[in-house]
Amino acid sequence: MVKEQFRESHLSKKIDKISFGLQSSLDIRQQAHLNCVNFNLYEGSNHEAAANGVLDPKMGTSRKNMKCTTCGKQVQDCIGHFGYLDLKLPVFSCWVLQINYYYTPEYM
Ligand SMILES: [Zn+2]
Repeated sequence: MVKEQFRESHLSKKIDKISFGLQSSLDIRQQAHLNCVNFNLYEGSNHEAAANGVLDPKMGTSRKNMKCTTCGKQVQDCIGHFGYLDLKLPVFSCWVLQINYYYTPEYM
Protein backbone atom coordinates (compact mmCIF):
# COMPACT_ATOMS: atom_id res chain seq x y z
CA MET A 1 0.00 0.00 0.00
CA VAL A 2 1.27 3.46 -0.90
CA LYS A 3 0.50 6.61 1.09
CA GLU A 4 -2.08 8.79 -0.64
CA GLN A 5 -0.92 12.12 -1.91
CA PHE A 6 -2.61 15.16 -0.35
CA ARG A 7 -4.99 16.84 -2.78
CA GLU A 8 -6.50 20.23 -2.11
CA SER A 9 -9.84 19.16 -3.59
CA HIS A 10 -10.41 16.89 -0.55
CA LEU A 11 -10.97 19.97 1.64
CA SER A 12 -14.37 21.57 1.96
CA LYS A 13 -12.84 24.80 3.31
CA LYS A 14 -9.50 26.50 3.01
CA ILE A 15 -7.29 26.93 6.06
CA ASP A 16 -7.12 30.59 6.98
CA LYS A 17 -5.04 30.40 10.16
CA ILE A 18 -2.41 28.20 11.72
CA SER A 19 -1.03 28.82 15.17
CA PHE A 20 2.08 27.32 16.71
CA GLY A 21 2.96 26.74 20.32
CA LEU A 22 4.92 24.55 22.65
CA GLN A 23 3.41 21.53 24.33
CA SER A 24 3.67 20.93 28.02
CA SER A 25 5.93 18.14 29.25
CA LEU A 26 2.81 16.25 30.39
CA ASP A 27 1.29 16.42 26.89
CA ILE A 28 4.56 15.23 25.35
CA ARG A 29 4.76 12.29 27.76
CA GLN A 30 1.14 11.31 27.09
CA GLN A 31 1.62 11.36 23.30
CA ALA A 32 4.93 9.50 23.33
CA HIS A 33 5.26 5.76 22.83
CA LEU A 34 8.73 5.57 24.30
CA ASN A 35 10.84 7.17 27.01
CA CYS A 36 14.36 7.18 25.59
CA VAL A 37 16.53 6.30 28.57
CA ASN A 38 19.36 4.55 26.75
CA PHE A 39 21.92 7.03 25.44
CA ASN A 40 23.64 4.43 23.24
CA LEU A 41 22.62 4.49 19.59
CA TYR A 42 23.55 0.88 18.84
CA GLU A 43 24.26 -2.25 20.86
CA GLY A 44 25.55 -5.71 20.22
CA SER A 45 28.09 -6.95 17.72
CA ASN A 46 25.68 -6.58 14.78
CA HIS A 47 24.98 -2.91 15.60
CA GLU A 48 21.23 -3.17 16.11
CA ALA A 49 19.44 -0.07 17.35
CA ALA A 50 19.67 0.07 21.12
CA ALA A 51 16.44 -0.71 22.98
CA ASN A 52 14.92 2.42 24.54
CA GLY A 53 17.40 4.58 22.64
CA VAL A 54 16.73 7.34 20.12
CA LEU A 55 16.90 4.84 17.23
CA ASP A 56 14.56 2.29 18.85
CA PRO A 57 12.23 0.81 16.18
CA LYS A 58 9.26 1.47 18.51
CA MET A 59 9.32 4.97 17.01
CA GLY A 60 9.12 3.60 13.46
CA THR A 61 11.53 2.12 11.00
CA SER A 62 13.53 3.48 8.10
CA ARG A 63 14.42 0.06 6.68
CA LYS A 64 12.40 -1.59 3.94
CA ASN A 65 12.87 -5.07 5.41
CA MET A 66 11.81 -4.17 8.98
CA LYS A 67 8.42 -3.61 10.55
CA CYS A 68 7.69 -0.98 13.17
CA THR A 69 7.52 -2.69 16.55
CA THR A 70 4.71 -0.39 17.73
CA CYS A 71 2.15 -0.67 14.90
CA GLY A 72 3.62 -3.62 12.97
CA LYS A 73 3.51 -1.73 9.66
CA GLN A 74 6.30 -1.37 7.14
CA VAL A 75 8.18 1.84 6.37
CA GLN A 76 5.76 3.04 3.67
CA ASP A 77 2.69 2.69 5.94
CA CYS A 78 3.96 3.56 9.44
CA ILE A 79 3.44 7.21 10.31
CA GLY A 80 6.14 7.16 13.03
CA HIS A 81 5.72 7.38 16.79
CA PHE A 82 6.98 9.89 19.30
CA GLY A 83 9.57 9.32 21.95
CA TYR A 84 10.92 11.71 24.55
CA LEU A 85 14.07 12.35 26.54
CA ASP A 86 14.26 13.56 30.11
CA LEU A 87 17.09 16.07 30.13
CA LYS A 88 18.96 16.82 33.34
CA LEU A 89 19.46 20.49 32.51
CA PRO A 90 17.47 22.99 30.44
CA VAL A 91 18.44 23.08 26.78
CA PHE A 92 17.55 26.02 24.59
CA SER A 93 16.64 25.29 21.01
CA CYS A 94 18.27 27.72 18.57
CA TRP A 95 15.45 26.96 16.14
CA VAL A 96 12.72 28.02 18.60
CA LEU A 97 14.67 31.07 19.75
CA GLN A 98 15.15 32.13 16.12
CA ILE A 99 11.41 31.85 15.40
CA ASN A 100 10.55 33.89 18.49
CA TYR A 101 13.09 36.51 17.44
CA TYR A 102 11.67 36.88 13.92
CA TYR A 103 8.00 36.76 14.91
CA THR A 104 7.94 39.17 17.80
CA PRO A 105 5.59 42.12 17.06
CA GLU A 106 8.34 44.67 16.42
CA TYR A 107 9.63 42.57 13.49
CA MET A 108 6.22 41.98 11.88
ZN1 LIG B 1 4.62 2.37 13.42
